[in-house]
Amino acid sequence: MSHGEDRFEKHFERQRDAKEQYKKNLPGEDDEPLPPPPEQIKKGKDEPGRNDPCPCGSGKKYKQCCLKGSKA
Ligand SMILES: [Zn+2]
Repeated sequence: MSHGEDRFEKHFERQRDAKEQYKKNLPGEDDEPLPPPPEQIKKGKDEPGRNDPCPCGSGKKYKQCCLKGSKA
């Protein structure tokens, strides 16, 4: 009967190995957070002046174009 038990144990071991491997592949909480994309950093910082030409390309002044609608 020891033959059958051996097989069972090996099967169990293999399952545990697979679980460990799965854990390793998961992103841990210790992982460094990804830096924000450069676009997000620029936004807000690099706002055009009210008298600058609107970035939307309309040719109007920013305050007379897109700035009007948005309360910022
Ligand atoms: Zn505009």
